[in-house]
Amino acid sequence: MAKRYTKKQVRQVKNAVKTIKKASPGSIFLAFIILAVAIGGYFIYNKFFKDPYIAPKGEIEFHFMQLNYGTSGDCIYIKAGDNDILIDGGSYYSSLDSISSYINSRMTDNKIEYLIVTHAHEDHIACLGGSGNSQTIFDLYDIGVIIDFPLTDNQLTTDKGNDTLYGRYVKERDAEIQLGAKHYTALECYTESEEGAQKFYNLSDDGNIKLEILYNYYYENQADKENNYSVCVQFHHGSRKFLFTGDLEDDGEEYLVANNNLKEVDLYKAGHHGSRTSSNDVLLSVIKPKICVISGVAGDKYGFPHQETINRLASNGVNKVYMTMKKVGDSFDAYNGDIVVSSSSENGVKVTCSNDDKPLKDTEWLIQNRIIPDAWKLVA
Ligand SMILES: [Zn+2]
Repeated sequence: MAKRYTKKQVRQVKNAVKTIKKASPGSIFLAFIILAVAIGGYFIYNKFFKDPYIAPKGEIEFHFMQLNYGTSGDCIYIKAGDNDILIDGGSYYSSLDSISSYINSRMTDNKIEYLIVTHAHEDHIACLGGSGNSQTIFDLYDIGVIIDFPLTDNQLTTDKGNDTLYGRYVKERDAEIQLGAKHYTALECYTESEEGAQKFYNLSDDGNIKLEILYNYYYENQADKENNYSVCVQFHHGSRKFLFTGDLEDDGEEYLVANNNLKEVDLYKAGHHGSRTSSNDVLLSVIKPKICVISGVAGDKYGFPHQETINRLASNGVNKVYMTMKKVGDSFDAYNGDIVVSSSSENGVKVTCSNDDKPLKDTEWLIQNRIIPDAWKLVA
């Protein structure tokens, strides 16, 4: 049956035709030119300026482990195909048991292909240097490539000649090099100044998953704070990006943005465990993370995550924020627990937590202990 039009609709069409008829040839020509420029501009933008979307193939998983200790620290296990990667070995000597039992159940061999050591603080190298009596990650696993920080203000020994934790780390690392591990500083990787040191490491045969070593100004300049020496890396899965900046602080973040072509990321590990000194607007406004993970203990002795950090995450539209542990009385417990961010072609980027999948903004801990920013109250 033919569609019937109302008198009002017919009148509207007639009026439109009249308007076109009345228009001068000049104005019709001008409208045509504007339309052609708009369509042409759209195609030129898409072809030459917009980042082409590359569908991710294969799989990469980022595991933020609970580290079984009451203060914050980092040890992040990353699985990309057959590659096992570890960023740091915190948070305390006693964390080694939980780290090894977690990764042993996920590794197919006993080899960590890439070990990235961001900076020489205990909460990042405790299980790499050990206490002197404890085992280390180097004792338990074969390491392929070690990438660490070019600079530190730590000494190898104390005034009395005893090893420092940093000194023990260097001993353990160098022993592993004797066993065949390759060792490069992040600066050597970035500049590719040593044979085998690369700015990009392929983690899949088709080159679709990569590890990129970013440039940090403090790889080669004296910093006021040890945190700013942090090795910064980014993983790529097709067009997806996953950013890790160790404990880099505000001025380090400014240099990071100025010296690297950072784009929006799918995942950002909050710098310095959610401290107010990291995750600043200059970085967040560029990377606009879809997911942010804070590795650490909410409410620990440093008061992480700081209110200022929460406010900046919220005002930059970062709504999916997760944290591994929380302080409970004099002890600690799982917050989101072990947090896994996985990226796959079929399922996109997913977050799975061992304890609770709720983002921070919806949790009782945050309501009780921090002021929820208005921007988060508006998000369903
Ligand atoms: Zn730290």
